[in-house]
Amino acid sequence: MHLQHASPPPPARPDWAYFLDVDGTLIDLAATPASVHVDGDLLALLQRLQVAGGGALALISGRSLADLAHHLPGLAMPMAGQHGLERRDGGGRVHRPPLPAGALDDVRTVLGAQTLRFPALLLEDKGMTLALHYRQAPFLAGHVHQLMARLAKAIGHHYTVQKGKYVAELKPAGVDKGTAIAAYLSEPPFADRRPVFIGDDANDEQGFARVNLLGGLSIKVGPGPSCATHRLADVGAVRDWLGNALETTP
Ligand SMILES: [Mg+2]
Repeated sequence: MHLQHASPPPPARPDWAYFLDVDGTLIDLAATPASVHVDGDLLALLQRLQVAGGGALALISGRSLADLAHHLPGLAMPMAGQHGLERRDGGGRVHRPPLPAGALDDVRTVLGAQTLRFPALLLEDKGMTLALHYRQAPFLAGHVHQLMARLAKAIGHHYTVQKGKYVAELKPAGVDKGTAIAAYLSEPPFADRRPVFIGDDANDEQGFARVNLLGGLSIKVGPGPSCATHRLADVGAVRDWLGNALETTP
């Protein structure tokens, strides 16, 4: 990864296809995933952008679809959850890959025991993935990453560890934010538009890489190494930039 000092993106256009991470990109990170604050301004911005852009707007999040629906009520738009593992397309159909039943059962038990041993750890069970958060105990980072790497190896090659800000997550390999973006781009209303992906975390890098390959705009939010070609400072800058698309005629 490189481009620590990538430039700001050019003005947003309504005829592009927008793919947006949620936490750390559209809303500020909070102490726990459940305690984020979603304001009415954001919901209104997304709805206006969806209309202005002919519907070519999708959220690409690490949260589950059920969790997104809970935190972003009333948003009837394409959304991919669990880093692309579940994907609601432009027609409202939900796609989920077939996974081996019970593959995470033993791991779930091990991680549950870890949260009893270290109460500052938070286990987030999203169904197809298991995320272990250590935001309340950063000194446990080494322990968490070693443990998750060991567990992924024990499950087999079809699972991998996705790292993020103060979190390590066990997820099926081969599906990520990049594959979700590619799937949207093969369907209306996204097809034939220039893709834009905005994200803030290590789990957005596959999305940036995919958009780079397709000649789109990849935008990293905040500091840190990234393969994104452009950069915005924070959540407020992302909202301002997206809002400008509403002022522009294609
Ligand atoms: Mg994020």
